[in-house]
Amino acid sequence: MNRFSLFFHRSIHQPLRFFSDNIIVCGAQPAGKIHLTFDDGPHPGNTPKLLHLLNRFVIPATFFLTGKCVASMPELAEEISQQGHIVGNHGWSHQNMRFHSAHHIRQNIQHCHDYVADLSGFRYIFRPPFGAWNPALFHVCKSLNYAVVFWSYSAADYNFRYWQKKDLAGELINRVRPGDILLLHDGYARAEQTIGALMEAIPYWQDCGFTFGDVTELLQQKKLQSQF
Ligand SMILES: [Zn+2]
Repeated sequence: MNRFSLFFHRSIHQPLRFFSDNIIVCGAQPAGKIHLTFDDGPHPGNTPKLLHLLNRFVIPATFFLTGKCVASMPELAEEISQQGHIVGNHGWSHQNMRFHSAHHIRQNIQHCHDYVADLSGFRYIFRPPFGAWNPALFHVCKSLNYAVVFWSYSAADYNFRYWQKKDLAGELINRVRPGDILLLHDGYARAEQTIGALMEAIPYWQDCGFTFGDVTELLQQKKLQSQF
């Protein structure tokens, strides 16, 4: 990641909303909720801590799980669902699919689907790893009845070296707006910095009167619910 992209937090995916009706980038503003999304898990150390935090503040969230991690930790994946959160598909092994064929993309999504579809919180929502896409990916997702969910704001929380010296909590507090889909990660080794930042940011957001929702509410707003 270069310095420019690190500061380019606002989603470059906004124009994609006009590409297809099964693409979600952000919610309605200004009265919208904040939609916390967590990618790349489940993670044996971080996901339980995150679930505890969300439970403490009674906040719903959306988790985009990789099939490989679910296969090795199915109980933890189900625990996410049992706590009332929504889970979606993040591909089998977090592969960048930008330059792959429709056949390969379908196999990758289907392989993950085989592991996440039985989770009680599962919905037909897919987040492309790295946010990387091509037209074939949208076509495949539509044919599988998956909505493609991007984000409107990324704190680049996975950049541990950067946030070691900066204030991730302050970034979240100052930048996140109602209606945002916020991209965060629990499935990387240093996610304790993300959880620590949320411990500061969530009470601040709640004091501001912000409310929280999972991204399936946005599907309903787009009247896509009939597909699911
Ligand atoms: Zn990811």
